[in-house]
Amino acid sequence: MPDLPSRCTWSLGTPPSKSPHGQDKLKDSPEILPNVLYKIGNTPLIRINNIARKYGLKCELLAKCEFFSASGSIKDRIALRMIEDAEKQGILKPGDVIIEPSSGNTGISLGLVAAVKGYHCIIVMPEKMSLEKVDVLKALGVEVVRTPNAANLNSPDSHIGMAWELQSKIPNSHVFDQYQNAGNPLAHYDIMAEEILEQCGGQVDVLVAGAGTGGTLTGIARKFKEKCPGCQIVGVDPKGSTMAEPEGLNLADKTFYEMEGIGHTFIPTVLDRKVIDKWVKTNDEESFAMARMLIKKEGLLCGGSSGSAVCAAVRVAKELKEGQRCVVILPDSVRNYMSKFLSDHWMEEKGFLTAECNQESWWGVP
Ligand code: PMP
Repeated sequence: MPDLPSRCTWSLGTPPSKSPHGQDKLKDSPEILPNVLYKIGNTPLIRINNIARKYGLKCELLAKCEFFSASGSIKDRIALRMIEDAEKQGILKPGDVIIEPSSGNTGISLGLVAAVKGYHCIIVMPEKMSLEKVDVLKALGVEVVRTPNAANLNSPDSHIGMAWELQSKIPNSHVFDQYQNAGNPLAHYDIMAEEILEQCGGQVDVLVAGAGTGGTLTGIARKFKEKCPGCQIVGVDPKGSTMAEPEGLNLADKTFYEMEGIGHTFIPTVLDRKVIDKWVKTNDEESFAMARMLIKKEGLLCGGSSGSAVCAAVRVAKELKEGQRCVVILPDSVRNYMSKFLSDHWMEEKGFLTAECNQESWWGVP
């Protein structure tokens, strides 16, 4: 047994270089926040190293990690903006009810803001969306209404139709409607885009983001066209969705896809396709495999649409040179998908576990 110094000897009177106690300061200043809404936004931009090396990228690949926001997704920004806009305009008053059609994340974000501010919240969500999202919503005190996946969006059975139907029946209720609300793209124009530009010292060569409502892409793209006009804006759209341009990109033999949060068969009012320079189509298999790789090789605990965005980013970033920079948005957290793409059983059942990048041999990166 080697003659080890006691704990006490190590910690007291030992020169700092030999002490087992860390000398480094915490990265974040540990201030006291008035409530959790102060933890919305200001998300970190994190370099993707191993995946960039695997694909032989010469440029820098950076991930804007929205899962570090208060409720775990990008939608906190727009929920806070839509609610506070309505409060300032005198539309939303104490005791009122918030109703919203959502693929889950906007619902969770609205539920979180509503919990802090004391509003009642009803979220209408298609059946396809994960049970994890439903459980978080319920835990936040939100009432959840599910609608059929196949419902035509113009019909009262769809999540959008049903939300408006409920609003017409419930007194003092409001649908902010993220698909039309100017606060959605504005939250990204005013805050998200500014954060990225500040974090990058104003130099971004390519910006990649998925489109659900299109608020993220539109808001960031409009600000970048003003402040970083050389940056190429890339939209990501799942195969089966029809948001991409040119239309020929949208030809597909099937319309259903498992990916949550991105893609539609209509163009939301808040999506301004004129400011998107290029669209990339992705499929479920490559996207879920990439999301698993982001977790496994980069330690980024992101959701499935982050995998889609990084698949697209890698494709575009291959064309970039050393010294250039590609920023990709990772919208949410794996917490939403524990029983879905994180589960080998689910991946196997859906036929996704055959993806090349689930095999260690594919990887070859130390
Ligand atoms: N990914 C996920 C998981 C989402 O929930 C959303 C929002 N629907 C998006 C991406 C796309 O964001 P946006 O609505 O701003 O286009």
